[in-house]
Amino acid sequence: MKITVDKEACIGCGTCVALAPNTFELDAEGKSEVINPNGDPEVDIKKAVEACPVGAIKIEEEPADSEAIK
Ligand code: SF4
Repeated sequence: MKITVDKEACIGCGTCVALAPNTFELDAEGKSEVINPNGDPEVDIKKAVEACPVGAIKIEEEPADSEAIK
């Protein structure tokens, strides 16, 4: 699983850090960044994705086979 944060969109509210503190951290500019994509249970990371008020967090599942890369 790959997690990305759109720092342009992130408003630094800290919700993702509160929900998955081992996965996200606020950087020096107060924007969220991924420190460890496997830091918290997937369910907590998905909660953070859903809770982000600006939809800045994206989860990309690793493609199971080449069909997924179309
Ligand atoms: Fe940024 Fe969204 Fe995390 Fe808030 S929940 S800090 S807006 S990525």
